[in-house]
Amino acid sequence: MSAPAVGVLALQGDAAPHVAALRGLGATPREVRALADLEGLSHLVLPGGESTTLAHLLDLFDLRAPLVAGWRAGRLALFGTCAGAILLGRDEGEAPRRLGVLDVTVRRNAYGRQVDSFAEPVVAPWLGQPPLGAVFIRAPRFADPGPGVEVLARRGDEPVLVRGPGALAATFHPELRDDARVHALFLATRPAAAEAAAASARG
Ligand code: GLN
Repeated sequence: MSAPAVGVLALQGDAAPHVAALRGLGATPREVRALADLEGLSHLVLPGGESTTLAHLLDLFDLRAPLVAGWRAGRLALFGTCAGAILLGRDEGEAPRRLGVLDVTVRRNAYGRQVDSFAEPVVAPWLGQPPLGAVFIRAPRFADPGPGVEVLARRGDEPVLVRGPGALAATFHPELRDDARVHALFLATRPAAAEAAAASARG
């Protein structure tokens, strides 16, 4: 199977390690900074960084609506890590404004300050062995995943990796470890069927 046409949003944050992880899987990732860069992509990573800045830059470069439209039309699967995960979540009126493509609340900075960052092994049945070394950097927390959202990994009781129609999100940074299993999972995630995406957006 040939690797899907994958891009990494490179407006702000840690795009480069995602590019490296995807290359390691045989993909040829494209850095996305403008609308034209989205042409022909079926998969896009929204990296970690600072979600307020990322949201501002998405608006400044007119990328917000095309991303949501591509997801909604079943053309584009999205994968958000940390700040990227915040952006994918439910739009509940809080800043930064979310894209609303994943039916889950994502609370920013929910573990505390930068010094409260930590690394911890994540165990999940689909992963097999060894556990995934997950790095949480001023990470958000997922809450109240909707019925169309699968929890793929937890830390204790809390979801840390979730998938809905055409969208995958991690509160941690899989790109910071030499382990591409989450990126492989993303490449195997198909863009949502348009109806599923619409239903998910309606909540
Ligand atoms: N705390 C950041 C935010 O709220 C996210 C941190 C990260 O992406 N590592 O945007």
